[in-house]
Amino acid sequence: MSVKPVVALVGRPNVGKSTLFNRLTRSRSALVADFSGLTRDRHYGEGRVGDTPFIVVDTGGFEPVAKSGILHQMARQTKQAIAEADVVVFLVDARAGLNAHDHDIARLLRKLGQKVVLCVNKAEGMQHGSAVAEFHELGLGLPCPISAAHGDGIADLIEHALEGLGEKVEDEVYEADETEPSPDALASDTADAIEPVIHHRIKLAIVGRPNVGKSTLINTLLGEERVIAFDMPGTTRDAIEIEFDRGGKQYTLIDTAGLRKRGKVFEAIEKFSVIKTLQAIEASNVVLLMIDAQQEVSEQDAHIAGFILETGRALVVAINKWDGLDSEHRERIQREFDRKLRFLSFARVHTISALRGQGINTVLRSVNAAHAAAFTKLSTPRLTRELQAAIEQQPPPRRGIFRPKMRYAHQGGQNPPLIIIHGNALDAISDSYRRYLEGRFRDAFELAGTPLRIEFKSSY
Ligand code: GDP
Ligand code: GDP
Repeated sequence: MSVKPVVALVGRPNVGKSTLFNRLTRSRSALVADFSGLTRDRHYGEGRVGDTPFIVVDTGGFEPVAKSGILHQMARQTKQAIAEADVVVFLVDARAGLNAHDHDIARLLRKLGQKVVLCVNKAEGMQHGSAVAEFHELGLGLPCPISAAHGDGIADLIEHALEGLGEKVEDEVYEADETEPSPDALASDTADAIEPVIHHRIKLAIVGRPNVGKSTLINTLLGEERVIAFDMPGTTRDAIEIEFDRGGKQYTLIDTAGLRKRGKVFEAIEKFSVIKTLQAIEASNVVLLMIDAQQEVSEQDAHIAGFILETGRALVVAINKWDGLDSEHRERIQREFDRKLRFLSFARVHTISALRGQGINTVLRSVNAAHAAAFTKLSTPRLTRELQAAIEQQPPPRRGIFRPKMRYAHQGGQNPPLIIIHGNALDAISDSYRRYLEGRFRDAFELAGTPLRIEFKSSY
């Protein structure tokens, strides 16, 4: 399993960390935009610059500003993020110049011994030499001038940061049939021949906050089953993967607890690590997100959920510790879940007790269904017929003088399914119309449990 490298953004307040974060993680699909309420203050994202995908962590949002000293502000979570990162991008501000806090952070980073790339932000319109000159004194190598706001120097920065790290992760190539269907194909059902579904092992990540019951669930699952293989981590980049069979299906569990142990940078690394969680999500096809019924639905739950959405993995939610709760409490947690995690509406939600083994078979059935939905193959005629039916029932509204014309649709990828719609003036399609189409495709092709992406390709 390859794991994406992790880049942590570090620096004092106002140097431009969140601006850089946003630029690095700008999403290619509108999926995230649809959930903007959710993703506004997130700190973890998938980087999309150049050929190598990576995970980026903005350490800026973690701590409230402390009374004194920048290092007090860089509390545990930041230090853990630094410890777990493959490379730290340390931002300073070209306009404000070198600052005592920059020296403090530089000292800490030198002590920790992680790979650091010094990055001088807000350098737009400045001579490169003069922008970076004074920062050499931090003793962290050659400073890279960038402008996060304008996008200058970003590709070089990332290339430099990722040098020597990770392999190029190649997405599985999906063979798409992009040709426009003939009228014959649209009319006939034979063009529709159901392609055999390839039976992959289901790569399942079980994630959730500390103490939500992940280990208990894994023990319950494996206790009843023969463990076929147990991979011990050979190198620091390997995950612990546990294979097991159940009900005729084959699963590979990706254990977040076992995901790569970093060097002894800090003695007390928390038992729970967001970055390990993100790596496990990345490595999976289906995520089982556990929520604790005996706690409030927290911001951390929402952050993890947001990342799952962003990666496009299929998702099943299990609300655990349902045993021993009275009905008033059960109703309250369900209301709270609906309110705070409404954006997960594509996923099936189950209430379970990992401790007592209740509800687990139902969860696994939903995992299987979500996996099948994520890998559905949709033929061009079938997609196009559904598209035409949707347009007939509700044509896309014109925007100004533009009337969008959708001609046909083909599938561009799996896990998540990507539907590419071809036509003219498709920039004029509104988000609400996109959601309408999404709903139509979801219903028609039984896509419960997986996100669905729609892209528009205009000929002019
Ligand atoms: P953070 O506190 O480190 O996350 O910093 P922010 O990303 O919130 O940025 C702080 C301020 O710097 C904001 O007003 C940004 O608009 C501004 N800023 C960020 N990047 C640039 C840049 O490249 N050039 C200039 N001129 N301003 C920037
Ligand atoms: P993890 O940190 O997510 O791996 O959580 P653990 O599996 O270690 O569980 C944390 C605590 O919650 C333990 O004391 C478990 O016994 C308890 N727990 C786990 N599942 C359940 C459940 O279904 N019901 C109840 N009542 N307690 C549970």
